[in-house]
Amino acid sequence: MDTTTLLSPASTNQLITTTPVPITVTYGDGIGPEITEAVLRILRAAGAQLDVETIEIGEKVYLSGNTSGIPDSAWESLQRTKILLKGPITTPQGKGYKSLNVTMRKVLGLYANVRPCVTYAPFVATNQPNMDVVIVRENEEDLYGGIEHRQTDEVVQCLKLISRPGTEKIIRYAFEYARINGRKKVTCFTKDNIMKATDGMFHQIFREIGAEYPELEKEHMIIDIGTAKLAVQPSRFDVIVTLNLYGDIISDVAAEVSGSVGLAGSSNIGENFAMFEAIHGSAPDIAGKNIANPSGLLGGAVQMLLHIGQKDVAEKIQNAWLKTLEDGQHTADIFNEVHSRARLGTREFADAVIARLGQKPQTLPAAAFGNNQQQTISVELRTYPPAQKDLIGVDVFLHWPQRDANVLGEQIKSIKVGNMELTMITNRGVKVWPNGNPATFCTDHWRCRFKSADYKVSPFSDVMDIVRELHALGFDVIKTENLYLFDGEPGFTLGQGQ
Ligand code: NAD
Repeated sequence: MDTTTLLSPASTNQLITTTPVPITVTYGDGIGPEITEAVLRILRAAGAQLDVETIEIGEKVYLSGNTSGIPDSAWESLQRTKILLKGPITTPQGKGYKSLNVTMRKVLGLYANVRPCVTYAPFVATNQPNMDVVIVRENEEDLYGGIEHRQTDEVVQCLKLISRPGTEKIIRYAFEYARINGRKKVTCFTKDNIMKATDGMFHQIFREIGAEYPELEKEHMIIDIGTAKLAVQPSRFDVIVTLNLYGDIISDVAAEVSGSVGLAGSSNIGENFAMFEAIHGSAPDIAGKNIANPSGLLGGAVQMLLHIGQKDVAEKIQNAWLKTLEDGQHTADIFNEVHSRARLGTREFADAVIARLGQKPQTLPAAAFGNNQQQTISVELRTYPPAQKDLIGVDVFLHWPQRDANVLGEQIKSIKVGNMELTMITNRGVKVWPNGNPATFCTDHWRCRFKSADYKVSPFSDVMDIVRELHALGFDVIKTENLYLFDGEPGFTLGQGQ
């Protein structure tokens, strides 16, 4: 095996032996090449033991006709190294191009997106000097399934899928992360007052798993007020765990609160693979000008070093970077009249960090990553016996262009098959029959609920018979959703106003 000997950080001056860790690097698009080059120079100068394979993914690959943006050779490299340090990628505008980031996360099973958001006051201007929050975002599910359909002239839909194992993994990860990293509190953000089944399950699993961590404070907040509090009172948060879309939004809010979107890095962690990046995009508006801040990608690289067990190098880089900020050596995005002493370009900022390797910040807390900082947290799923699942009805969705719910109700209320009969019609989720409010605006997309009034179990052939009868009456059936009881509990929600 190829072994390299190196001198550890100047602060300890101790001889250690490390094998270079194979990693895959992609420079990305826009500002990607500039900031990746800067970060790799810092990693080299700090003595990171890395065996780098470079791949090309992103804009050029997309424009060559590969709609995923990822060639086979890139997947091969990732299979070998399991680690990707990724510059930001431009997703070309227009239909047909799938987001490469979403593809990477899903194909590689990178279920946890971890984004530390910290303020560096007074050196980086911010209205919120005391923020030190880690956002743990679910990374594979939710509306990012990209399962979208146009169903009628007027209505399109996007399916929000939340799974129990997916939720358990991210919640367990958040609690383990908090425990290992000496954090005190985990806050869960959902919108379960509205989405009772999906967000409700996320909240419920947070309660169940949270009970296994008695030493940690736990709280739940509705996402809207939670985001508002995060923007104006971030010091009240410690670790936040949330669903994919909410996590995406709040981590940009938190990064902006910290002073610049250019400051934050993130890790995407799975059981077998991990990807490290900046949270910002490819910033085409400033590409090629040597003015981009490489700090976000550098933060991702520091998390990568912790992940692969090179804690000393991670600390050395983080401390040199903090000292650079303290010394007022700033890129344009964080330049301020009071604390900045030099407005540096991307390359010069990297030089300033390299010149400070081995130094520690004087005012900001120095980085001291505990021995347990590695983010390879193993998550074990609980097992459950399958529930008793009983079919008791069906929601049939119709494309019907008239806007009068009572007319529709009159036309289909005579349909009865076995125990199932028409109990409700909704439009965009609002009950409009029977006894709808005439003020409710209706589109051409109707849900007709056929169900047994007293939850009697029905065979699936009854569902098909209902669809057949609607079709025979000339209705355009666009989809069905079966209504089940799981261990006697309804697996469906009521209509709004029901
Ligand atoms: P962006 O993050 O690229 O830029 C937003 C703003 O922040 C711009 O004004 C930009 O100049 C500034 N900015 C971003 N990074 C900076 C840095 N390091 N230093 C200084 N200023 C910085 O967002 P966008 O403009 O919405 O997206 C541009 C492209 O990036 C799009 O194609 C988008 O799809 C892609 N994108 C990629 C990723 C990723 O690869 N992870 C993430 C987000 C967006």
